[in-house]
Amino acid sequence: MCVFCKIVNKEIPSKTLYEDDKVIAILDLSQATFGHTLVIPKKHYENLFDIDESTYLHLMKVVKELALKIKTKLNADGINIINNNHQAAGQTVMHYHVHIVPRYTNDDFKIINIDHSKDYNLDEVLNKILK
Ligand code: ZN
Repeated sequence: MCVFCKIVNKEIPSKTLYEDDKVIAILDLSQATFGHTLVIPKKHYENLFDIDESTYLHLMKVVKELALKIKTKLNADGINIINNNHQAAGQTVMHYHVHIVPRYTNDDFKIINIDHSKDYNLDEVLNKILK
């Protein structure tokens, strides 16, 4: 059984912000920033590609509600919503989850975005996706 299934089953303790019949929200132990939270479906889905639509839509509704609550209560200056799918994208626990990362002006959390606009032709990209 995976670590998040164990948390859902209360075999591993967690700091729980929210729980209903379909999802649970817990504080991420790493606390990349103050208030870093994970929203996890109770049923085991590996990633975005196998989670069923109704669970996904409900989970994202909870993400939005909690993001607003966290931003307000913690006086965050911004929020990142992050979901990693597959190892290449940085997924480390193979049970679908969404990170809510509250952001504070001058915090040390980094998302590195490199401009590759000179390397890729937009029409080629569009054609590959649409064909
Ligand atoms: Zn699991």
